[in-house]
Amino acid sequence: MKSGACTHIDAVDRVKPAKAYECEECVKIGSSWVHLRTCQACGGTRCCDNSPNRHATKHARASGHPVIASAEPGERWLYCYPDDAFAEY
Ligand SMILES: [Zn+2]
Ligand SMILES: [Zn+2]
Ligand SMILES: [Zn+2]
Repeated sequence: MKSGACTHIDAVDRVKPAKAYECEECVKIGSSWVHLRTCQACGGTRCCDNSPNRHATKHARASGHPVIASAEPGERWLYCYPDDAFAEY
């Protein structure tokens, strides 16, 4: 995908979709979420920063996986944590 500034987003040629429409970490602890994001390195789907547990950001920090895609229906964008870069596709 073309981002203009971020080599991580440029390296994504096919966006990984969510395998299930749920946060895999919140499901384990019985919590809830607001929006879902899918990690483009490992394909795991986790919750956004408006959610109480912010699992997508925690996962990116802990794993070093840089790029997430929105898993929300109708949203087509990627975000890179280390570059703070955003790209629609
Ligand atoms: Zn990047
Ligand atoms: Zn979560
Ligand atoms: Zn990941």
